[in-house]
Amino acid sequence: MLIREANEHDIDQIMALEKTCFVNDAWSEEVMLSELEAEHTFYVVGFVGDNLVGYGGLSKLPGSHQADIQTIATAPAERGKGYGRAIMQALTAQAIKLGAEEIFLEVRADNKVAQKLYEVFGFKRIGVRKKYYQPDGVDAFVMQTSLVRQPLVLGIESSCDETGIGIVRGNQLLANVISSSMDKHAIFGGVVPEIAARAHLEALNPVLNEALDKAGVDLDEIDAIAVTNGPGLAGALMVGIGAAKALSVATGKPIYAVNHLVGHVAADILANGKVETPTIALLVSGGHTSLLLVRDLLKDVVLLGETIDDAAGEAFDKVARVLGLSYPGGPEIDRAAKDGSANAIRFPRGLTLPKDMQDHRYDFSFSGLKTAVARHVELGESKGEKLELADVAASFREAVVDVLVNKAVSACKEYGINRLLLGGGVVANARLREYATEHCEAEGIELRIPPLSLCTDNGAMIAVLASQLIAAGAIPSTLDFSAESTLDVRVVQS
Ligand code: ADP
Ligand code: MG
Repeated sequence: MLIREANEHDIDQIMALEKTCFVNDAWSEEVMLSELEAEHTFYVVGFVGDNLVGYGGLSKLPGSHQADIQTIATAPAERGKGYGRAIMQALTAQAIKLGAEEIFLEVRADNKVAQKLYEVFGFKRIGVRKKYYQPDGVDAFVMQTSLVRQPLVLGIESSCDETGIGIVRGNQLLANVISSSMDKHAIFGGVVPEIAARAHLEALNPVLNEALDKAGVDLDEIDAIAVTNGPGLAGALMVGIGAAKALSVATGKPIYAVNHLVGHVAADILANGKVETPTIALLVSGGHTSLLLVRDLLKDVVLLGETIDDAAGEAFDKVARVLGLSYPGGPEIDRAAKDGSANAIRFPRGLTLPKDMQDHRYDFSFSGLKTAVARHVELGESKGEKLELADVAASFREAVVDVLVNKAVSACKEYGINRLLLGGGVVANARLREYATEHCEAEGIELRIPPLSLCTDNGAMIAVLASQLIAAGAIPSTLDFSAESTLDVRVVQS
């Protein structure tokens, strides 16, 4: 969705959506136009292609520290895709830009979905207006959120091939800008650390400027700098750390060195307002495959298991190569598997035999699976058979997903925790989402999957983790921390 400021040429589409969304109490075109054009209002529209999928507006009088969200609407067919959240984000960022210290809104008492969205943005119910919505006679809840007193945190992430800079105010996402060097690694079929480090160096300044611009804040307004110091590629981490230290020294702002993996868990705060604990978290990317038990985000995160060889994303990338597909392999295999049969070939499920389940209950291994796929392909070739790409891709994908989800679900059951949170780039996998959804539903486990932009490596999750540390009174890191490529998940802050 593309979001931009609304203008009078949008009026026809806005009115059409207004009438669909507010059947009994739609504003008239005159009212809408005068709101759009008023000096003290700010309206945004969201488009997918030529279609208006949502809009929202706020008012903020000069000299006042209060902004009011006047309306927000998303097309019924487009709900549940995060568009409402994106519009709220644009409005919140503008309110901050205009110097608002708090935002108010009214919401129908019977509109629980909207209330939930506002809660994500920190809104709390502060009053009720009886029978406010006419002719239905429905009460309005008055909700308010404070924009001050919450620290403005800039987070830098550079542990692998994404240069990510995010800016949050408390738990609110203001900007999340990512530049990936993925293309530069394509010919090598995997991330090359030196190339990633160099790319971070080039990307940092533009990404920083874009993030500040998106958030509508100046560098000197930032209250704290956060940075990933591990785990990850040492050379890549060092670039982000160097930048963060330089910014901290130059601005005099405190610095927080935080754990990348815990950051992935914290990403859910940006989507959900908080991380519900306890939870099991499965983090699957090109660099990690980790199963965590999170009893307390800041104080009690335990590693239950991890890969003993390749990471899940790495397995997708390597098998894609064997199958003659390009890098990154995950999306390619997903595509190739679409019309294939997941049961065509029974590929091995790593570390699931009874003896493995004693020593490596929650660990993963994908290198045997990779070899099995390669053998299958070679054997077919030697017999002169045509490669059934769709079946091989689907069967391989099933073997990965099967192990990931079953180990995660059994951890939930064994620890009596009915929550599972997913993170990492492999969460983009269609079958992983489907399989996890089915299994969690069957077991009564609540499944949390943050939007993909927060699942892959990003600076916003690092910023929001630091923001939790600040709220909990954590003392800033001293400048002598360094890159820790194998940082223990129990060390939330260095
Ligand atoms: P990292 O930066 O640690 O390498 P990312 O979070 O950037 O990891 O995720 C990239 C990895 O995710 C790559 O290994 C890629 O193949 C994998 N990936 C991306 N999309 C999919 C998908 N649809 N299915 C499986 N794996 C995927
Ligand atoms: Mg990456």
